[in-house]
Amino acid sequence: MTTDSLNDRALPQAPSLSRVTCDTRQAISIAYNTQVYEMRRRGIEVIVMSLGEAYFDIPLYPMDDLPSPAIYHYTNSLGIPELRQCLADRFRSAYGVPVDPEHEILVTAGSKPAIHMALMSILDPGDEVIVHEPAWVSYPEQIRLCYGTPVSVPHQQTVFDFDRYVTPRTKAIIINNPNNPRGSVLTEAELRHLLTLARERGLWLLSDEAYSDFLCDDGFVSLGRLDPEKHHSVIFNTISKNYGVSGWRLGYVVACRALLFNILKVNQHLLTCPASILQFYMARHFDDLIEITRPQIRAVVRKRQDIAAYMDEIGVAYLPGTATFYFFVSIAPSKLTSDEFATRLLAENHVSVVPGIGYGASCDGFIRISIGTATEEQNREGLRKIKALIDRTS
Ligand code: PLP
Repeated sequence: MTTDSLNDRALPQAPSLSRVTCDTRQAISIAYNTQVYEMRRRGIEVIVMSLGEAYFDIPLYPMDDLPSPAIYHYTNSLGIPELRQCLADRFRSAYGVPVDPEHEILVTAGSKPAIHMALMSILDPGDEVIVHEPAWVSYPEQIRLCYGTPVSVPHQQTVFDFDRYVTPRTKAIIINNPNNPRGSVLTEAELRHLLTLARERGLWLLSDEAYSDFLCDDGFVSLGRLDPEKHHSVIFNTISKNYGVSGWRLGYVVACRALLFNILKVNQHLLTCPASILQFYMARHFDDLIEITRPQIRAVVRKRQDIAAYMDEIGVAYLPGTATFYFFVSIAPSKLTSDEFATRLLAENHVSVVPGIGYGASCDGFIRISIGTATEEQNREGLRKIKALIDRTS
């Protein structure tokens, strides 16, 4: 043994971390919400316009009559058959999408891991995925974590411009419909254009439909309706938003049998299954919870309309949209970056929002607000403070 190697042992080098996780950015929305939790813990009142959910009034049904001992144990890695059947029935009745509950749907611990596992099942290192800004904060990071390359389309472009971003390395396009943070909804013509592009260029078209029920009319078209065989389409949805139980971590993916089988293998190795007791609970109370949340979802969308009218009245601009409980609000002509703006707004005015830069390089002139958790009056007060900060920093 040489002196050098003895020295190496005495002074070991710090073990290194993976390049890909070092380069991963924090989920900026969660980072801001963590600051809010911390401020509240210190007794500071905050108007919260940064949380990505709407609060509902929902009952907690008894859990002691759920099937025991099954509620304590691992379940099928696709999710329990009863819950898959409920979701498949709902897809057919609400969105006109046929789903085989045995082979085309997998329930996992939120749609976030579902999207990640689908990307793992689709991408080889260096493959490109087209994302449209403002893009939900996790798409680019999840693509990179799968050793893929996100290719961003700036927010000023439309889906009819996507063709120009397709290269021989393009493997998939990911869309978020209805869109967080714009609140916009893709038309059938736009979806058909994307599907034609996917067919012509041999691409997967990933459609994240987490906010499918937060619309003011019946104008939502699920991608699955246009591609019932799911040759190109992969659909994600979640129980977090439509049922108001984001912390329960139940989401799902609908895909063709071949892709779903690979996602299943990833799920078996990463999670096994989502919390069994919650799967049984949701399957038992599925229809009741839809009935209970449906009017509350409508109320949230109405509240969004009122808030839109208020922003027009006080002169706060935002990208066009009618769905979800989000707005992508312009902070122009403020001289602050969106991160500086959100930081000052939180520190000086105790209003939390998410900086637009988290949604892509073309989005630094925006902030995302959510009107789902604060009261209408608090949202209005928050908006007045946003307007005042824009004016003060212009
Ligand atoms: N997709 C979008 C567009 C979202 O906004 C969110 C949550 O904020 C998710 C997916 C993830 O939802 P979950 O993992 O709770 O199912």
